[in-house]
Amino acid sequence: MTTKYDFDLLVIGGGSGGIATANRAAMHGAKVAVIEGKALGGTCVNVGCVPKKVLWNGANLLSQIKTLSADYGFQTSVNAINFAQLVEAREAYISRIHNSYNTTFTKNAVTLITGWGSLVDAHTVKVVSPEQTTTNYTAERILLAPGGKAVIPNIEGAKLGKTSDDFFALTELPKSAVIVGAGYIAVELAGVLNSFGVDTTLVTRGDRPLRWADKDITDELLENFKLQGLKHLGNSEFTKVEQLDNGQTRLVTNHGNLDSEFLVWAIGREPNLAGLNLDEVGVITDSEGFIITNDLSETSVPNILAIGDATNAPALTPVAIKTGRMLAERLYNHKEGLHFNKDSYIPTVIFSHPAIGTVGMCEKTALEKFGAFDPQTNPNGIKVYSSKFTSMLTAVTSHPEKIFMKLVVQGENEKVIGLHGIGYGVDEMIQGFAVAMQMGATKADFDNTVAIHPTGSEEFVTMR
Ligand code: FAD
Ligand code: NDP
Repeated sequence: MTTKYDFDLLVIGGGSGGIATANRAAMHGAKVAVIEGKALGGTCVNVGCVPKKVLWNGANLLSQIKTLSADYGFQTSVNAINFAQLVEAREAYISRIHNSYNTTFTKNAVTLITGWGSLVDAHTVKVVSPEQTTTNYTAERILLAPGGKAVIPNIEGAKLGKTSDDFFALTELPKSAVIVGAGYIAVELAGVLNSFGVDTTLVTRGDRPLRWADKDITDELLENFKLQGLKHLGNSEFTKVEQLDNGQTRLVTNHGNLDSEFLVWAIGREPNLAGLNLDEVGVITDSEGFIITNDLSETSVPNILAIGDATNAPALTPVAIKTGRMLAERLYNHKEGLHFNKDSYIPTVIFSHPAIGTVGMCEKTALEKFGAFDPQTNPNGIKVYSSKFTSMLTAVTSHPEKIFMKLVVQGENEKVIGLHGIGYGVDEMIQGFAVAMQMGATKADFDNTVAIHPTGSEEFVTMR
């Protein structure tokens, strides 16, 4: 396919989006290279979804042994946690994922170029290798998929705080941790650390974490924090960080000083664009620094494309992958106009303890948009169904844990526009329901579906 250029497609960034696009384009005959400065797999595989989920699984296993096993009649106890061993197993797994990426690249004839890339012009990328040699590569099209990085607050001593990347570098658990932030990462890290017995405090500037999520769900999350001894300080203002003589860091807040061995900033992520030279080549970013793209993933320079966390799309691996694969289908498999529809339902799970699963609108947003259902005055309004029950896993123990579920339905035919849950197993329940919602399912469709008994998910099809 290539004519005057070295490649048809040069991808900057070998993370979730970059790898998926490169492979799909190459499968359709394009000559493709991926430029990666660190490790293949990007954030998700190396310092995100994958190591997080392994630790989350470990934390769940530990909690279950500690709180449930005795009531199930097992005489067992946990004498010690060999965290280093868990980390070693995790990293070995990640290394197998790297191998599998390399094998797939070889199979698809995708060239891997190791080094940091920056744009020279609309068709040329300069790569500086780990040995500091510089090589220019040309391509008909360039895809920017450089991902994001943690935001550090602009306060005195902020550099004393760590990020999620540092969390994944730990081989030993700290005795105490303060996590600042209110999003996915803050909740997930705080939950894992707390479950592993670290004295953990979550500090949020609002009254609760995950303020965008359904309030009934976060109410349940806060209840679980209390049951699990995870401390939460809401409505917090923090002004500076100090280094203490005992090696701890001190976060100075309106609630007083919070001293800990491990202070983590989890207040959001920003695009990772340093050194890419976007301005010089005319690639425009928005006020928050995200690369501006149209629906077809084209930037302000038409042959330069961008996907993933560096754009303002939802920062989720499946979104980056889907956007990239659809782009490759459009460019290299004649799928005219194909692109990821940003209005699709995007199911997502927060790996809290217990997990939260959510698809579509929360009750508050739906009410603001459609109002409450009234057959006479507002037939397009919304109704809510919910259910709270004890998980069968814990019902036979002295640690009964609740599952809470909610459906938000809209209009006279009760189209399901929001589905939310928190509790044991919710993380594995919602994918199939997202398919149904994507197809436009109504509450009646849910009700007409035979339940699977005894499971937690059957509540979603039996709510009254
Ligand atoms: P990335 O995966 O970040 O890849 C970008 C790559 O580009 C990196 O490898 C980087 O080294 C490389 N790069 C950057 N600049 C250059 C350059 N100039 N030259 C060469 N290489 C460069 N999402 C989920 O869906 N589920 C989860 O459970 C989940 N958990 C997460 C947990 C954490 C702690 C974090 C931080 C994120 C998590 N995410 C999760 C989000 C997910 O990781 C991202 O949405 C996804 O990785 C974005 O993919 P990407 O291709 O845009 O970028
Ligand atoms: P998020 O954007 O999810 O959350 C950050 C939150 O921190 C904000 O919503 C805000 O909440 C709070 N915040 C922002 N600025 C400040 C500040 N200056 N001081 C105190 N609090 C502040 O970011 P994350 O870093 O947690 O995650 C980034 C993205 O990565 C996520 O949005 C998600 O898309 C993805 N991710 C996905 C995961 C998954 O799928 N399970 C797991 C981890 C990450 P408030 O306004 O309430 O204060």
